Amino acid sequence: MAKIVAIVNQKGGVGKTTTCVNLAAALKYLGRRVLLCDFDPQANATSGMGVDKSVSNGVYDVLINGVETRKAIVTTPYGDVLPSSKALAGGGVEMIEMADRQFLLRSALDAVREDYDYIFVDCPPSLELLTLNALCAADSLLVPLQGEYYALEGLSDLMNTVRIVRRNMNPRLQIEGVLLTMFDGRTNLAIQVAQEVKRFFPGKVYATVIPRNIRLSEAPSHGKPITAYDRGCRGAEAYLALANEFLKKNT
Ligand code: ADP
Ligand code: MG
Repeated sequence: MAKIVAIVNQKGGVGKTTTCVNLAAALKYLGRRVLLCDFDPQANATSGMGVDKSVSNGVYDVLINGVETRKAIVTTPYGDVLPSSKALAGGGVEMIEMADRQFLLRSALDAVREDYDYIFVDCPPSLELLTLNALCAADSLLVPLQGEYYALEGLSDLMNTVRIVRRNMNPRLQIEGVLLTMFDGRTNLAIQVAQEVKRFFPGKVYATVIPRNIRLSEAPSHGKPITAYDRGCRGAEAYLALANEFLKKNT
């Protein structure tokens, strides 16, 4: 049965999508069965996996139009994808009207849980209904933080949301791990930030850090995860190391 991991941070541009695509693809590369569920209307994870954003069915059609989850999933060499599309932006509003609105994603993913080892959900940059659905569906959340001086900003709001979800909707929700991204370990500032983050999340910060690497920002425009775009670059090495650390924590 798949473990469902939501990639969450309400701040944009911290590396959620990059981490979702490349961690999923690295685990697939290491022989695991993975599904990436793109739950951001921007659909950057969908195109980053090489899937056309204008696909006929996506996660929106599963949640709102009753399409079977399995029928909406696209298979790629880098892992399976449940695509997003712009329609999902409006979906947030339509979902407000629905009973069990915070559990729609959970039931959609439950239908395919047996088919995978890991399901990663790429969240939009907010704590609203879409992210709430992801937190209700997930066994754990992985939080990417950009290694800068304001990395911790907004994290108390995130942790509050996690507490509310645990108390009222999903008691099994755990913190999978906290990942420092776009990290430059040569600067004193970055080292200080890393120490602060470790104080805030004792025992939860991955030893692996993701360096700033231009290849990671180029890969999406080729529709490939980093392990397929440039297996030898520092970004690929980092995400493979992360995948191994992730697996070690999950055995
Ligand atoms: P989010 O999903 O949190 O908004 P993204 O993963 O889309 O963040 O990353 C924001 C931007 O930074 C993108 O253009 C992405 O290509 C780039 N980026 C992410 N991680 C790295 C990295 N380690 N090195 C260089 N560029 C990165
Ligand atoms: Mg994103």
